[in-house]
Amino acid sequence: MRSVFFPRLVNGPFGDPALHVRLAYRGEALLFDCGDLHALAPGELLKTRLLFLSHAHIDHLVGFDLLLRTFLARDLTLLMYGPAGLAQQIAARLQGYTWNLVDGYPFVLTVREWLPEGIREVSFPARQAFRPLSERMLTCHNQILHETPWYRVRAARLAHGDIVSLAFSLEEPLHVAIHKDALERHNYRPGHWLSRFKDLVMRAASLDTPVTAALSDGSMRSVPLGELLDTIASTERGMKVVYVTDCSPVFGNFRRILDLSQNAHLLTIEAMFAHRDLERARQRNHLTAWQAGRLARLARVARLQVFHHSPRYQGRPDDLGREARAAFAGENAPPCARNNGVLLC
Ligand SMILES: [Zn+2]
Ligand SMILES: [Zn+2]
Repeated sequence: MRSVFFPRLVNGPFGDPALHVRLAYRGEALLFDCGDLHALAPGELLKTRLLFLSHAHIDHLVGFDLLLRTFLARDLTLLMYGPAGLAQQIAARLQGYTWNLVDGYPFVLTVREWLPEGIREVSFPARQAFRPLSERMLTCHNQILHETPWYRVRAARLAHGDIVSLAFSLEEPLHVAIHKDALERHNYRPGHWLSRFKDLVMRAASLDTPVTAALSDGSMRSVPLGELLDTIASTERGMKVVYVTDCSPVFGNFRRILDLSQNAHLLTIEAMFAHRDLERARQRNHLTAWQAGRLARLARVARLQVFHHSPRYQGRPDDLGREARAAFAGENAPPCARNNGVLLC
């Protein structure tokens, strides 16, 4: 499958959490958490349209100011999703600055909190000195926070000590594959028209819809959508990337992580501690590397990426990755302090 999401851990496995996902063909990117963002070029930051925040611990939010600074004078809207209470936290953060010279600035920050009864939206326009301008409630079905014809983001609430940390699944509803050999066989020339064709398929347009196709002799021809679907393309299950961080190693979390990440193409998941330090992982409300790998195996994900390692393992930087990969491959749990490691401890 040709990737449509290009995820990148901004700060590697030991740095602040931030997963930057570039969307193919759209010139846009999504951010999952915004720890330190200095490793991203301003051009990359400006492509961000949506920010999904797991929770407001400082290592996940400290990059917000750089994002705000980069967007401030732009005619753009940044949409930020997060757990209950986020709008108040962002309002307090914004009011920590002086805003007397931003009257004509068109930038608007919109915060959406995921509440049990729906999604609460609060807008903060720069021209109003970031005072909250409007508020409304939106409905939320099947844990889907955001949906477009090309991708959707679902969330799950995980316990992280006595607060909620959100996990997210970025999903392509349907994958449209173009067959190169079929293009050649039917004398079509690859080009931008294929993006419009894919868009129409994703939007479930009528099969009669005319598509202007480029031919290999340089001419153009109008072809019904259905005919193109039959001759040059096929559809399959869409790509799925799951982001899980900062959660207590408890059964309820394991169940929710498995639900969310089932059959994902990539699971990016925290692995703060080695399994021999399980007791500490429990006290600090984080997962061990072995648990992360075991969850990836049980969810039948295609690829595992672990991150958010404690600095205490920096002397042996590959250990946590190795432990997670061993669990993903089905090896038995390594011994831990008070438990010999049945299932997920
Ligand atoms: Zn954290
Ligand atoms: Zn945390």
